Amino acid sequence: MTFVRLTRHAPEAQNATTCAVCGTADARQLTDHLQVGTPGAPQQDAGVCEACGGVINQMADKYGPQVTMVVDQAQTQASEREITVPGAQPSKPEAGESH
Ligand SMILES: [Zn+2]
Repeated sequence: MTFVRLTRHAPEAQNATTCAVCGTADARQLTDHLQVGTPGAPQQDAGVCEACGGVINQMADKYGPQVTMVVDQAQTQASEREITVPGAQPSKPEAGESH
């Protein structure tokens, strides 16, 4: 399990050149220190900007500091194998149907 620790307004962040989350290269905005890896022995150190640090902070505030996070992309289009009727329009309602 990957451990992510964010230290807000950490002096270490001044060594970073880009935000690890949004990629901004504005060094003045890099205020937070992100450590990723095993608890106590992080493999990665990165800087995070004020705005992105705020987002992570709010997530931790709302859902608790110990969160397992999975990021998925919502499926917005039916894939080829899900269209079983040739020529069917999966997103449109049936035209002749009435209630
Ligand atoms: Zn950022």
